[in-house]
Amino acid sequence: MQTALADFVRDTPAGREANAILRNCVHCGFCLPACPTYQLLGDELDSPRGRIYLMKQLLEGEPVTARTQLHLDRCLTCRACESACPSGVQYGRLLDIGRELTEERVPRTANERVKRYLLRKIVPHRGRVRVLLRLARAARPLLPRSLRARVPPAAPPAPCGAPAPAGWPPPRHARRVLFIEGCVQDAVAPGINPAAAHVLDRIGISALRVRACGCCGMLDHHLGARAAAEAAARRNIDALWGHIEAGAEAVVMTASACASMVADYARLLAGDAAYAARAARISSLARDISQVLAAESGALTAALQDAAAAAPVRVAFQAPCTLQHALRVRGVVEGLLAGAGLALTEVTDGQRCCGSAGTYSLLQPQLSQQLLRSKVAALESGRPEVIVTANVGCLMHLRSGTALPVCHWVELLAARLGDG
Ligand code: SF4
Ligand code: SF4
Repeated sequence: MQTALADFVRDTPAGREANAILRNCVHCGFCLPACPTYQLLGDELDSPRGRIYLMKQLLEGEPVTARTQLHLDRCLTCRACESACPSGVQYGRLLDIGRELTEERVPRTANERVKRYLLRKIVPHRGRVRVLLRLARAARPLLPRSLRARVPPAAPPAPCGAPAPAGWPPPRHARRVLFIEGCVQDAVAPGINPAAAHVLDRIGISALRVRACGCCGMLDHHLGARAAAEAAARRNIDALWGHIEAGAEAVVMTASACASMVADYARLLAGDAAYAARAARISSLARDISQVLAAESGALTAALQDAAAAAPVRVAFQAPCTLQHALRVRGVVEGLLAGAGLALTEVTDGQRCCGSAGTYSLLQPQLSQQLLRSKVAALESGRPEVIVTANVGCLMHLRSGTALPVCHWVELLAARLGDG
């Protein structure tokens, strides 16, 4: 694609990066069938190619309007288009740049500003999420049905009907990894990280909770608040660094969205002389829990052989976009679950987003609900007993749309292994 970037951006790092990305796009349109919003709306401007065209106009200095912003807002950032693109166009990165520039140029309505402000001020803070949840639970009978389904119960049932291992295992192994426990997940699904820590403990790896870490910065990043996302990354790097120097092997997350964000710290802080090297090191150590367990498959198989035999459970796996498109981890969780004796059911259109997409379900509820309905239908079509996922946002979203139990796949694995 030929480009002629405007003076305001041509010689900036973001401008140079955007220009290189734009030039890779050959307009072939192979990405269109992969795009959920294009499938739903049928408008080229709600497709990757259309949005790339809008961002090219913006970068070339043409007027940016609320219409541009609307089409960029409707993007789920699922990055299915990147997986489908034969030219390796880094659409997600271009969108980050496009959204930041649009945010600076197109004022939002007061209502939008308040919504986005509240999301940014509440969601990344576990304490505030807990308070909000308590209020929401108290007001549950008064809430509309769609919202009621999204409020998690105070004491979630044991994951998928199986008993969860109790507490956090003490650090007894020489091999150690660090856990970033996240913000929302810690408040709404507090059993996931202990379950992962127990699985690691059974295969000879101790998991250290780094409580000084907070939100990974993904929410701010997606809402165009780059400075706040960078601040979150710096805080987490400061909290992790001493442990890294002491020999921790990896920085592990059980939410694939957080893992993809931490893996991106190197790029986020590349221009910060004080943090760039440490950010690059931490990005190189960032892992989704599936990546860690896949690398230890021999030890895991041995641990599972020791576990009491359990009847196979029929499981449908929903692969979050951040796992399959951002981290490019595909087929790994399915392999781990099959290795644990679980029977995976077929899920059609597995590459398609469930509509959760960070804050998308709150900011674009209609499109999000349409995607949720088709995802739940696809997941339920193989008659599973349980639905599992790898990201807390997807987990909460799916729970609001199905009567089946929904949990993190590692909880199921921990339950298989038992207390051991
Ligand atoms: S598939 Fe890639 S190269 Fe083709 S239009 Fe889409 S982004 Fe551009
Ligand atoms: S990120 Fe997802 S929603 Fe956005 S353009 Fe790409 S495929 Fe479509």
